[in-house]
Amino acid sequence: MNCPVNFEQFSLDRRIGAAIKTIGYTEPTPIQQQAIPVVLQGRDVLGLAQTGTGKTAAFLLPILQRLTQGPLRRVRALIVAPTRELAEQIHQMSIDLGQNTRVRSMSIYGGVGKMPQVAALRRGAEIVVACPGRLLDLLGDGSINLSHVEVLVLDEADRMCDMGFLPDIRRIIKRLPVKRQTLFFSATMPNDIRALADNILNNPTTVQIGMIAPAKTVSHALYPVPNNLKKKLLLDLLSQTRTGRVLIFTRTKYRARNLARDLVKRKYRATALQGNMSQNQRQRAINGFRDGKYDILVATDIAARGIDVTQITHVINFDIPNTVDAYTHRIGRTGRVDQTGEAYTFVSEDDVQMVRAIEKILGAQIERRRVSNFDYGDFKPESYSSQRRSNQPRQTQSNRRRTARSKSSARSRRKPAQPRSNKQRV
Ligand code: AMP
Repeated sequence: MNCPVNFEQFSLDRRIGAAIKTIGYTEPTPIQQQAIPVVLQGRDVLGLAQTGTGKTAAFLLPILQRLTQGPLRRVRALIVAPTRELAEQIHQMSIDLGQNTRVRSMSIYGGVGKMPQVAALRRGAEIVVACPGRLLDLLGDGSINLSHVEVLVLDEADRMCDMGFLPDIRRIIKRLPVKRQTLFFSATMPNDIRALADNILNNPTTVQIGMIAPAKTVSHALYPVPNNLKKKLLLDLLSQTRTGRVLIFTRTKYRARNLARDLVKRKYRATALQGNMSQNQRQRAINGFRDGKYDILVATDIAARGIDVTQITHVINFDIPNTVDAYTHRIGRTGRVDQTGEAYTFVSEDDVQMVRAIEKILGAQIERRRVSNFDYGDFKPESYSSQRRSNQPRQTQSNRRRTARSKSSARSRRKPAQPRSNKQRV
């Protein structure tokens, strides 16, 4: 295929072209090169793309092109996303890209008042970016009419499935016109997602960018450390490392909140992002991190889903994630679109199996590092191995729990999705 090297070759409406220039995109990313011409032709797309590849603009630009013609003030494009943060990010990007057009976008999600969303729907919008729960709510009480939808986008479909939204998605799809264009994006393709895609896509073109493997622009390192020394190690590491914006992941919302508090006590400009916070508090944390008010954001997986902050120099997994997919998504927060980033993961003896699974996907052993002058006691970071050894430490209780979790995660790829317990935890 002869790939365009600039946006002019897509022959987009000049108002959209002007917005692209204002935003500062000079050339399309690989997924944009592949997807935009196909979407412009009106074809269905199955996009296998991880976060940070530019996939949002890949579907928004051709959608805006379509909406610049035809009737206004009715919902013609519906974009469904798993989290409020991601929905808000897509909505903001459609405002930015559509700034010179008359196309209106709005977002719909729970956790905030319903009436402003109902009022915005009454005023009329062509693009609706929605999370499944509140969308069904508004469909139920007749506040939204989806009978004019021409394009449906399902973004991060695998994550929606992980969060137990698959039945909701099916109910939403039943309310849409059968004759429509469908764009389906997912970073991974477990069986239940594949079945959904087969069911709703009509002769799709597959667009595949760097499936599953974490972004190549990120370098990875493991920091073996006993669990009780993690916080001390983090402080030493931060004091020795030249960093820009740092995103730290913890396993639970309590750990995120407490770690952020500890960092603030040590005079770091840090804040937390976790599921116990209101939508306004979360937005303030994300905005503060994006605008430079905070250097460090301590987050849980689901809360951090979809935050679009460029120039994150370091992702630190204070706690290793429960699945390889979650590792990929966390790491996708750094190294976004041709920037380089560092991914550090703190690992204890409990994490051996997950390290092995991650290394398998990366196709290489991750470098082990020690923080110089740090007192590890009897612990030897350099002898940390992810290989099966006869003298490997006995399985601890939390290790057994984690093994059970990753087995059930493997099972969920084969069976229809079950809501995961971490929906409550984060
Ligand atoms: P996404 O994968 O859609 O979340 O996009 C990741 C980041 O890449 C966002 O910050 C976008 O603004 C940015 N981006 C998208 N397309 C381009 C482009 N063609 N050139 C530079 N940055 C881009």
